Amino acid sequence: MARQRKWMSGLLLSGGLALALSGCGSSSGGASNEPAGNGGTDAGEGAKLNVAATIYPMAEFARQVGGSRVNVVPLVPTGVEPHDWEPSAKDMAAISDADVFVYNGIVESWAEQAIGSAANPDRVDVEASRGLADLEGSVDDPHPGEESEGDPNHADEQGDEHAEAQAKDPHVWLDPVLAQQEVRAIQKALEQADPDYKDHYAKNADAYIAKLEELHQQFVSQLETSKRKDFVTSHAAFTYLAERYGLKQVPISGLSPEQEPSPEQMAQVIEFVREHQVKTIFFETLIDSKLADTIAAETQAGTDVLNPLEGLTKEQADQGEDYISVMTSNLNALVKALNG
Ligand SMILES: [Zn+2]
Repeated sequence: MARQRKWMSGLLLSGGLALALSGCGSSSGGASNEPAGNGGTDAGEGAKLNVAATIYPMAEFARQVGGSRVNVVPLVPTGVEPHDWEPSAKDMAAISDADVFVYNGIVESWAEQAIGSAANPDRVDVEASRGLADLEGSVDDPHPGEESEGDPNHADEQGDEHAEAQAKDPHVWLDPVLAQQEVRAIQKALEQADPDYKDHYAKNADAYIAKLEELHQQFVSQLETSKRKDFVTSHAAFTYLAERYGLKQVPISGLSPEQEPSPEQMAQVIEFVREHQVKTIFFETLIDSKLADTIAAETQAGTDVLNPLEGLTKEQADQGEDYISVMTSNLNALVKALNG
């Protein structure tokens, strides 16, 4: 029922879009109430596809493309920051039972292993960011010096974090143009799993991509005249977005919020804020705003939310917020911060 309400309020909020969406919206709301356990059976007459999806944007894109044909099982729960999330036995069973498994790639470091151990030869697995995530992390090492001192065992413990710092940047969904390509990848996977309904998936994908393109055009027109181009974020989630619109992101933390900055890095961000007269320090809804607050207090800057859409809060979900509405809020926040 919660999702039904979410959809209904989403439809009311989106006004003119309601007509285009109502067909798949109302029925996909109902679908979420159905049990998710019909195993690896193919979608025959009337049977919906079970789609297991990792982070919020993947679940949302799968719902938009799948519409009435799919039952989407979101894995990372609402209100949970996904970078260090790992699947439970129940989640693994959902992946194993799914007809399609949708993941972004990179941010779910556990996904490849899950695909192997939750084996299901009939399932279609789709890494939506494949071929799109071409940027390296902008923070090479969140804790310089730590690994070179102390004993080798300590260095080993730091190994994972270091490897993560060197990884590709996963946050492609925050660029409305790359998001369109992720939607296409999900469309292809659904078509492969459910070829009788190819036209249904193509039509839904086209309609949603048109909305993402409209969102992109709003970003272009509202950001091209910005007084300033630099913005300070909580973690380094907005590099693809910044590159798309000619902006520069200065992140406080690394590619993952867990990569906290050293005192030297904090000092560098503070210096940057002063030098470039940055007026707003952005924080996120799913992580502690302590570091952003510290920098804002040091520099007399304000703070505001810039949402990396790694998950909705419970309030946002209840209020019918979705990818497009949150990205529109992000655009408004950026316009305000870059022109204030
Ligand atoms: Zn992130």
